Amino acid sequence: MKTYFPTTAERAIVSHLITTQGTFERDEIDLLLAHEHVFVDLGPMADENWKDAQAEAVIDRIGPEIERAIDAGIDALVECTPEGVGRRVDIDLAVSEATDFPIVVPTGIYQEPNIPQWARDMSVEDLTDWMLAELTEGIDDTGVRAAWIKVSTDDDDPEGLSPDEEKILRAAARAGAETGAVIGSHTLHGDVVDQQLDIIKAEGYDPSRFIWIHAQAEADRDSHERAAERGAFVEYDWIGGDDQDDQTYIDLVAHMTERGYTDRVLLSQDRGYYDPSEPDGGDIDPYTYIVESFLPKLRASSVDDAAIETIVHENPFDAYSR
Ligand SMILES: [Zn+2]
Repeated sequence: MKTYFPTTAERAIVSHLITTQGTFERDEIDLLLAHEHVFVDLGPMADENWKDAQAEAVIDRIGPEIERAIDAGIDALVECTPEGVGRRVDIDLAVSEATDFPIVVPTGIYQEPNIPQWARDMSVEDLTDWMLAELTEGIDDTGVRAAWIKVSTDDDDPEGLSPDEEKILRAAARAGAETGAVIGSHTLHGDVVDQQLDIIKAEGYDPSRFIWIHAQAEADRDSHERAAERGAFVEYDWIGGDDQDDQTYIDLVAHMTERGYTDRVLLSQDRGYYDPSEPDGGDIDPYTYIVESFLPKLRASSVDDAAIETIVHENPFDAYSR
């Protein structure tokens, strides 16, 4: 298996961002939201509401929010919905075309108990081949390639990965090592991130191509530093949500920048989205909170402008391009 990880300087020159609208160079994407959702089914898995969703209904609800995002200077967003919570890349593509807005989509699979049976039945080799095909050829018949690999771990299990979660992570590491695609993991416990980094390293994958998604859910900031020290991106991504106020996020950013991890921090909102298990897709939260409300507060804080520039405008492209 060929593995090649360019240096950060090399990546700045050679890497591209793969989206629903083709590939983009660094100077074409100034503001990329690192973790949002266009479409995700958070209803009971057995109901499979995502299967019947119609693109037109999603465009009606999400289209205006993307227009607002464009007006606010947002150039693209990362869709973080994998298999197991209703991934519909055909709908992402339809929304992208209706709004002329690039969306970055993943391959990958969600956590216990939402892992689809077909994925449980696959070997690590089969899963690797499936991810590689989505990363290099395209997803279903959309013609859209996955830019990155989303994985996830059970929120209620602080002990670590289930056997199927570990199998999916190993496949992600193998497919990622071959393509340079970043792995982003929904992980709420710092100790589990340590285990994940050990596993991907053993599979020949570079820990600096790993994103710890939802790091704000882990109160132990030492574990944030530890992950960054090992090379991982540490993503704070419920900005504008009910769990933590803006000052909490400003403190987290200040903490990481003061310790020299400016180039490892990602910020986002985990917002949107059309949920087909809710009437008319449910409540939609604007993608613009971070630009209109949060960043002005961050700029007025003790965090210096150069660090904010790196975190907001450089790190997301570094993370998701390959
Ligand atoms: Zn999410």
